[in-house]
Amino acid sequence: MRFATLGLLHEANTFSPLVADQQMFNDGGVWRGAEIIEQYGGSAATLGGFLAGGEQFGVDVVPLLFAFVNPVGPITKDAFESLVGEMLSELVDQGPWDGVLLALHGAAVAEHIPDADAEIANRIRHIVGPDVPVGAVLDLHANVSRRLVNALTVTLVYHTNPHVDARERGIECTELVRRAAREEIRPEQVLIPLPLVVNIARQDTSESPMAELMAKAAEIARQPGMLTANVVEGFPYADVPHMGMSCLAIHDGDRLEATSAARELAAAVWRCRAELQAHGSSVDDALDIAEVEQRGPVVLLDVGDNIGGGAPGDSTVILAAAVQRGVRSLVQTLWDPDAVQHCLDAGIGADVQLKVGARHSYSAGSPVAVTGQIKVISDGRFEEPTATHGGFRFFDMGPSVALETTDGHTLVLTTRPVMNSSLRQLLSLGVDPNEFRVVVAKGVNSPRAAYEPIASRLVVVDTDGITAMGVERFIYNERRRPLYPFEAAAFPA
Ligand SMILES: [Zn+2]
Repeated sequence: MRFATLGLLHEANTFSPLVADQQMFNDGGVWRGAEIIEQYGGSAATLGGFLAGGEQFGVDVVPLLFAFVNPVGPITKDAFESLVGEMLSELVDQGPWDGVLLALHGAAVAEHIPDADAEIANRIRHIVGPDVPVGAVLDLHANVSRRLVNALTVTLVYHTNPHVDARERGIECTELVRRAAREEIRPEQVLIPLPLVVNIARQDTSESPMAELMAKAAEIARQPGMLTANVVEGFPYADVPHMGMSCLAIHDGDRLEATSAARELAAAVWRCRAELQAHGSSVDDALDIAEVEQRGPVVLLDVGDNIGGGAPGDSTVILAAAVQRGVRSLVQTLWDPDAVQHCLDAGIGADVQLKVGARHSYSAGSPVAVTGQIKVISDGRFEEPTATHGGFRFFDMGPSVALETTDGHTLVLTTRPVMNSSLRQLLSLGVDPNEFRVVVAKGVNSPRAAYEPIASRLVVVDTDGITAMGVERFIYNERRRPLYPFEAAAFPA
């Protein structure tokens, strides 16, 4: 058996003015053929799972093209058509196929196509025809539409947030597509979109209520004939009609069974809708907590500047408050290519005076004046050997600098924004987060797998920015109405 594997991974924050053009994809990574094996073979990512599944089940998994971009705004029409066009022409040229394995995010938006994942899946379905099984693995933040699911034979979704099971889902998807190709199973998929948004701070699948809901999904998935069942969290920062939570169940052969499983799960989610909302700490309260904690670093989760959600990673809101209050012993990253260049020009060991952070119209806070010494200069590349969030292995911040300021802070200035999902990010510059009282991590869930083991506690901080906690801070034009918590809504009939 021979399966094609291909994909495009983009989580679009439609409140970001930064578009995902070809250059952004080139920076994120566009890999072809054997390059995909080099990048992802043995990794904890979905593609690592597809490749491992191929070996495990004796299927020849042929990688075609995979494109990744860090979360930003919508994909430009040019980039989308060029990448997807190339992907599809490879699919045609190297076919025919016994199956197709797709790595998608599920929250991709293109300038000309609000449901970009569904568009990709439908174009693939059009090429391979109705009989070749096509399986996809989606991120738990997918805004899943019926149009997407209807184009796929099996739709698998991560079970965890932080996402540590991408590889496992990739293997599972390979197995289901193989069984479908051999006509051992006949997957019946039912999706129930819920008129419900989960707050970003209630998405951790190890905490209530998501932990119980995921356990319920696992229990349903173990019932006879069920192939999988999932609660999908969705991505709130996308102003598109299909934004929101959903439930998905797949049964082998019986659509009614799939429907009742999906409805049972959806009803359980719906009962938790109030608990799925959240409030965070103010910056001052968070710094109060950090100042009295004696047991080790307090990790402040800067929700408004969540790099993994499309924010720039250059907010100075917490930093400025710490400077003003005289809170010392703080470490954080800041995306600031200009400041990096200034430091590279000055050289290692130099004393510098400069302004850092908040360079963009959509940055939170204002540039902060700092004085300090350049301790380390690096090429910004690091490798994370374990599954932290999404299973990514190789990271590239571009030229980066560790700057020790006279305020007692260490700022890791980077040329590119990279999620704070790996301790190696700081360790690769000789900065040990264990040695600080305060670690500012730009994210909500993505930093947890890395930082929970070293933190005395994590504090969710309700900061400004294009990934702020409160969805009522944003103006939505395209979302469904009614949609809870914006409006009271009814459970779908
Ligand atoms: Zn995600």
